[in-house]
Amino acid sequence: MTQRRYSARLQNKRLVKIHTGNYYVIDAVCKHCQHVNTVGFAGWSAIKCEGCGHEIYRTPVYPAVHRAFRRLSRGTNAKWTGWGIIMDLIDMQKIKLKEVVAIGAEYGFSKEVIQMRRTDWIKMHIDLEWKVMHV
Ligand SMILES: [Zn+2]
Repeated sequence: MTQRRYSARLQNKRLVKIHTGNYYVIDAVCKHCQHVNTVGFAGWSAIKCEGCGHEIYRTPVYPAVHRAFRRLSRGTNAKWTGWGIIMDLIDMQKIKLKEVVAIGAEYGFSKEVIQMRRTDWIKMHIDLEWKVMHV
């Protein structure tokens, strides 16, 4: 069983001066336990919350993909709702296909299945665009 993922609430970006230079830091507030984790502004996508130990993410994208796969694996999501969320996030370049493949593996989805869904998704949209252009 994989643990739940949370996104962070980012606030209070500020410049700090240390001997090697000036750096921006930001408070990443855990949405699970409200612990304030102070981290560098740049260079991270997820951290382990010092308060509760959960992984918290910079953006809601990764938790959303985890949620979609979790529901798909339980059959609690209408199939195309779950896949649609994942494919829309790839289309919007919020996440890469290879990252989706890595997350999907945690929920028992093979690379081949995910790539097949991606191909179906693209084909469906090309067909739709063709129909829209030819009505
Ligand atoms: Zn926490």
